[in-house]
Amino acid sequence: MPSAENIFLDHVAQTSPFPLKIEVAKAEGSHIYDKQGKDYLDFISGIAVTNIGHRHPLVVKAIKSQLDDYLHVMAYGEFIQSPQNKLAEKLASILPPSLSTSYFVNSGTEANEGALKLAKRITGRTGIISCRKSYHGSTHGSLSISGNEVKKYAFRPLLPDVQFIDFNRISDLAMITEETACVIIEPIQGDAGVRIPALGYLKALRKRCTEKGAMLIFDEVQTGFGRTGKLFAFEHFEVVPDILTIAKAMGGGMPIGAFISSKEHMTLLTHDPVLGHITTFGGHPVNCAAALANLEVILDDGLIEEVEEKGRLIQQLITHPSIKEIRRKGLMFAIEFDSAERVQKIVEACIADGVITFWFLSCPESFRLAPPLNISETDLRKGCEVIRLAIERNA
Ligand code: PLP
Repeated sequence: MPSAENIFLDHVAQTSPFPLKIEVAKAEGSHIYDKQGKDYLDFISGIAVTNIGHRHPLVVKAIKSQLDDYLHVMAYGEFIQSPQNKLAEKLASILPPSLSTSYFVNSGTEANEGALKLAKRITGRTGIISCRKSYHGSTHGSLSISGNEVKKYAFRPLLPDVQFIDFNRISDLAMITEETACVIIEPIQGDAGVRIPALGYLKALRKRCTEKGAMLIFDEVQTGFGRTGKLFAFEHFEVVPDILTIAKAMGGGMPIGAFISSKEHMTLLTHDPVLGHITTFGGHPVNCAAALANLEVILDDGLIEEVEEKGRLIQQLITHPSIKEIRRKGLMFAIEFDSAERVQKIVEACIADGVITFWFLSCPESFRLAPPLNISETDLRKGCEVIRLAIERNA
């Protein structure tokens, strides 16, 4: 009989030559257990997904309840489905009035694809501006606007009419013109290694986009749902985008995303051409039910209020002279060292000792931390001690 590892390697498509190969048996709260009974603390939340922990009871309950009513019934946008209605209404109630209408999709990259198409449709323009080192997803459109050439060169040609600016460089905003359909930006860059803009940068960006009639798209796929200490990171900067994209932590562990804008904008996707954007499974009722429960837990349990305090505690607990820099907003961390080799060893040591940390796509000298927002203080301290010791051993 082939082993689980052999089946995985032979029949499940791989994304790299060196997968972690932890064989998952169960996950609960901040913990993942493997088939050998080893207990891992998940300090990255499945990469910014399980912000309220694995299998939150209220998310599981909402899923089970929806399973008893209906699963897929019809391609997106035709039937009235109460899980979609409730989620869209809840999102509209907590977002600024100009972000009133949600188009539900299945993932972050899909949310960005929809947002780009919507911006073209609103403006009648084709120019797209994005940031160097950004990450917006792996499908052709999102890859085209992602700023890491290493991940792109093998797949050209990609979308035309895309220009790149430096994140946080005000002088580059002059590249936004009357030809620009949209600027897409992560308000805090995630896979660039947690890059936090200077106060005023996003306001200047907003002003320039408004002056030139370009749509401003905030990709909050990684920063959303409390990760940075606000429900959405744009709240830190008092800047409202024209289009907001979300996914990852939206579904409490289920696959769902959305691009969100005004009703007036969204209506443009219904004509010239009709069915301007379509998806079969977007807004799946089970995932919408999970997403609503997830959002209610984040809001009702006061989880966002705990984020800054927990972030500060982690920063205090993980100190070592070999750390060059810690970049942090809330519970979104990049811990930077002098070399990628050192980071490699530290991440491997943490995982061996039962704490899951991980690399960034475009910042090999740092590793990421993004624990669940509701991690207990005991688990938080335990995980930090493992990480601190791994750093010490590899200093
Ligand atoms: N945008 C950002 C900022 C992301 O961090 C990611 C994923 O890491 C994506 C988009 C793509 O999301 P998905 O992997 O769900 O397609």
